[in-house]
Amino acid sequence: MTDLALRSAIIDAGRRMNEAGLNQGTAGNISARAGDGLLVTPSGVEYQVMQPGDIIAMGWDGGWTSAGAAPESDRRPSSEWRFHRDILRQRPDIGAILHAHAPFSTALACLRKDIPAFHYMVAVAGGSLIKCSAYATFGTEALSKAALEALGERNACLLANHGLIACADSPAAALALAVEVEALAAQYMRALGVGEPQLLDDAEMQRVLEKFAAGYGYASEPESEPESKSESGRESEPDDD
Ligand code: 13P
Ligand code: ZN
Repeated sequence: MTDLALRSAIIDAGRRMNEAGLNQGTAGNISARAGDGLLVTPSGVEYQVMQPGDIIAMGWDGGWTSAGAAPESDRRPSSEWRFHRDILRQRPDIGAILHAHAPFSTALACLRKDIPAFHYMVAVAGGSLIKCSAYATFGTEALSKAALEALGERNACLLANHGLIACADSPAAALALAVEVEALAAQYMRALGVGEPQLLDDAEMQRVLEKFAAGYGYASEPESEPESKSESGRESEPDDD
């Protein structure tokens, strides 16, 4: 993807996360790995008016430039540039990060609750739970550390009294994961409102994680189209193990 296409993909994900009700106003921020560093949204700018030149290019040392921006631009990097930089630096498997103040995820994060294995789709984030971080003030190194800790080897976490983080290969894929996390948060809250959800055990979550890793749509792109016919030409049996 060209630099311009990546900047546009970041803005598109920002607009769509607000349209989807996953975020509001200028909250949230998005980054993507680019060259020897990252591209990150500017601080406090409406996604509707954001232009490719407003996106900030940042090096791993935190040095940044808005070289693409109009000369009169006073854009500065997102206040959360540290966790974007630190996650991308520490997790070479991740290409893009989306942070949003999604309503249900944020409500759970205000209760400092993890999303446990109450539903098999929790595995969409790459583990058997989606952890809520310790609390730290927005924009601080402490929040970056708390986010890394809550993410672990997984691809999403909640931020205490704040929101969510979703990580994937691209801004669009990070948005898709955030949509899943928010749906899970909404389902979990509804279940909690009625009783104590029954949790799936580790062995079951391991089976689900293996099925996702084998290419079931959500976690990763399948390497090739699934066979719909066996070699004999008959429809293959559904895999029900
Ligand atoms: P920025 O506008 O600086 O990216 O901040 C939004 C936010 O969500 C802070 O946590
Ligand atoms: Zn935030």
